[in-house]
Amino acid sequence: MQIADAGAAYVLATLTAGGYEAYYVGGCVRDAVLARPIKDIDIATSALPDQVMACFKRTAPTGLAHGTVTVILEQGTYEVTTFRKEAQYEGFRRPASVEYISDLTEDLRRRDFTMNAMAMNMAHEVLDPFDGQQDLANGVLRCVGAAEERFGEDALRMLRCIRFASTYGLEVEAQTWQALLEQAPLLRHIAMERVRSELARMVEGPAPGRAVRLLLASRLTAHLKKQLPLPFELWLAHDHALDAVSALTEQQTRWALLLMLLETPAETVRLALQELTFSRADTERIAGVLALREWLAAQLDGGEHAHAAAAASDPALLARVWKIGAVRRGMAAAHALLDVLQALPQPLEVARGELARFQRYAVPLLVRHGRDWLAEMPCASLKELDVTGNEVAEALGRKPGPWMGELLQQLLERAALGELVNRRDDLLQAARDALM
Ligand code: ATP
Ligand code: MG
Repeated sequence: MQIADAGAAYVLATLTAGGYEAYYVGGCVRDAVLARPIKDIDIATSALPDQVMACFKRTAPTGLAHGTVTVILEQGTYEVTTFRKEAQYEGFRRPASVEYISDLTEDLRRRDFTMNAMAMNMAHEVLDPFDGQQDLANGVLRCVGAAEERFGEDALRMLRCIRFASTYGLEVEAQTWQALLEQAPLLRHIAMERVRSELARMVEGPAPGRAVRLLLASRLTAHLKKQLPLPFELWLAHDHALDAVSALTEQQTRWALLLMLLETPAETVRLALQELTFSRADTERIAGVLALREWLAAQLDGGEHAHAAAAASDPALLARVWKIGAVRRGMAAAHALLDVLQALPQPLEVARGELARFQRYAVPLLVRHGRDWLAEMPCASLKELDVTGNEVAEALGRKPGPWMGELLQQLLERAALGELVNRRDDLLQAARDALM
């Protein structure tokens, strides 16, 4: 187990030559012990921030409040943090102020889990006062010290606990888990932004299904700072589907599948994603998949393109509605919806009427033919239409206005369905006919 990074080795050697102690710490040591790829390298030292800055030509005071100086080398940038203790925790979050100390073990003691509380010296010897290696060998995730206190000091650690247990395939040690159950209500002190960031890492990790099960078992979702209008317990009703999530490669489709299981209207899901501080673009991409599914279900259930509920099982009609949906909601949403539907071992059984019929009758057909139907569309967006709004206005001798958008959309949908050739002259003729 080694950390093979010339820049980091140089930082350690330089600090040591300056008469200070310096170690690799935290996640990089854990990942080295597990022989996993190492992401960022954190370094801890007995040198005070000023002393660190004096040791190197180029540094940046990136986190002085926490005792962190970034050392800038040709090989990369390295965060060097002075051994520290955390002063009073306030509001169940980590404190802004710190107290510098001279002892490595004390620095390791403030860390969350034993596997994150190991250090490694220049000679690649592991310093492991809390037996993190033993816990890792046993597949156990355990708090450093009294778990109840540790979660009480910083409630975010409870989410980190579930994230690490799921992404590293560990069992949460019994007392750590007991403490988490007891302290779960403290999660309400943690900003939604940080909650989202942890959830996102669980969802993008190798075992999102396990993360969801742990989240539910912990009841953490009942104690968010902002209550979300989502019936999380439905995840249990669709337990078999949770394992399908990891088959999806994109984060957004993973979220879309997970949220689809909650049988909540797309509009409500959109609000929940906003509360979780997802970016506008991510919110649209995720909720857009659910919105497309809802729209399709409504159309097939006696909407403008259908005559009977049985429409959902009529391939020709389904193909038509599917293509219009792809035009209106975008090709990306259509492909993402197919990704999600195809990831599921069988169509979901849901309670809501029109969605239930959609799931039962339309989904098997979409899973089989949906991609081919998209592929055979001659065009899917206004950009691809062989005529512009101005050209239409000119050809018709009319002033541009709201009529134009509607007309173009009409032309686009007919061209997308193959009812009209996507060629300038044909489109202009169709425009003339439409306005007669
Ligand atoms: P990853 O980068 O994969 O999330 P990591 O362990 O490096 O894992 P970071 O958030 O980068 O996690 O933090 C680096 C180290 O700082 C951790 O290994 C841990 O020792 C300590 N640490 C981070 N957050 C906390 C916290 N909330 N409470 C206690 N210690 C923490
Ligand atoms: Mg890290």
